[in-house]
Formats: sequence, structure tokens, C-alpha cells
Amino acid sequence: MEEFPGLHVSQHPAVLHKLSLLRDAETEPKKFRELVREISWLVGYEALADARVDDVQVKTPIEMTHGARLADRIGLVPILRAGLGMVDAMLELMPTAQVWHLGLFRDERTLRPVEYYNKLPDSATVDLCLILDPMLATGGSATAAIEVLKRWGAVTPVRIKLVNLIAAPEGVRAVQLAHPDVPIYTAALDRQLNEKGYIMPGLGDAGDRQFGTGRIG
Ligand code: URA
Repeated sequence: MEEFPGLHVSQHPAVLHKLSLLRDAETEPKKFRELVREISWLVGYEALADARVDDVQVKTPIEMTHGARLADRIGLVPILRAGLGMVDAMLELMPTAQVWHLGLFRDERTLRPVEYYNKLPDSATVDLCLILDPMLATGGSATAAIEVLKRWGAVTPVRIKLVNLIAAPEGVRAVQLAHPDVPIYTAALDRQLNEKGYIMPGLGDAGDRQFGTGRIG
């Protein structure tokens, strides 16, 4: 992505196919959740392409050989509530990852992130943090989550990556301006936000569509 050097937009045909189903207003919550999980798996797979591995010895039924074991200690940070649907897929990819739930919003008066729920451990004992949020809209909560992680201690050499399903240019710009060291992985880069802060063409409210709590007209 020329305009956004740290942005990785998946070009995989399986992602493109599933994303169209995800966007479809007729897709019911059950199918929608399945698709969130499947696309998260595929985008997560791409986001982990540079994860570090250690050498291990493996005894096959035939002989000894060299193998690899994931060496990075990984923390998954789902942003409540829509990020919850991405967790299982990421745990399938990285069964030893820890999951730290984070609930936050941005105080419109102070413009500071306000945490209402934080399950981060006491110290930053990881190598790689993946922030999970299906929609990168204004970038408000993503920027806030990155700030929370950095304040907590997730600074170099700890790497932070943002994993989304759909991003808006406004959100990518905001995150990259504030945190140029945080790469963004997404299944799609959409056109823009509308006046209500929804991504166009987007998919509506990712939380509502997963949990069956509403519909935008
Ligand atoms: N959050 C959503 O769930 N959808 C959008 O379009 C923007 C933010």
C-alpha cells in the first residue's frame, strides 16, 4: 500500500470470497460469526509470518529431523466487544497465546483513552502483542489500545501489531500518525467513514452483527 507503508491488506482469494459473504446484509449472526472466525484465521496467519521459531528435534516414525516451535510469547488483546469473535481463530493458530481482554473508549472531552475493563497481566512478559478488532474506523480505540499497551510496558523489543478485518483510510492514518511502529493487518481497506463513523461500504456494526443485537438501516 503506497500511501500506508505499514499496512498489509490481504489479497488472498479465500479472504476476498469470505469477505463478500461477511459484508452481505443478509448474512445471519451464526454465519457471520463463522466468517469472522475464518477470516481472522487467514489474516492472523499473514500477521504471524515473521513470528520467531526455535529449532527442535522431532522423531518421525522413520528418523530424527529438525523441526520448529513457536518461540515468541504472544499476547492477544481483543477489544471488547467485537474483538471477541476473533479470539478463537487466533488461539487455533497460537494455542499457547495469552488472552488479555481490554474494554475502552475515548473520552471525547479529554480525548484520552478511558479503560473500563483491563485484564492485562502485571508485567509485560511477552514478545508480541496482537490487538484484535474487526473494524478500524476512526482509529480512536486502536490508538487508545496501543497507548495502554505501551504504558503497560509493551515497548521495544516487544512488538505490537493491529489485526482488523476492515479498515478505513481515516483510521489507518490516525494509527500510523500516532504509532508508526505498529503494523496493521487487514482483510480490506474500504473507501471512507460516513457521518456516523461507520465504514463505507463496510458491513455495519460488527458487534451487533456477531451477537444479533441490532441492525443499521
Ligand atoms: N465499528 C463497526 O462495528 N462498524 C463500523 O463501520 C465502524 C465501527
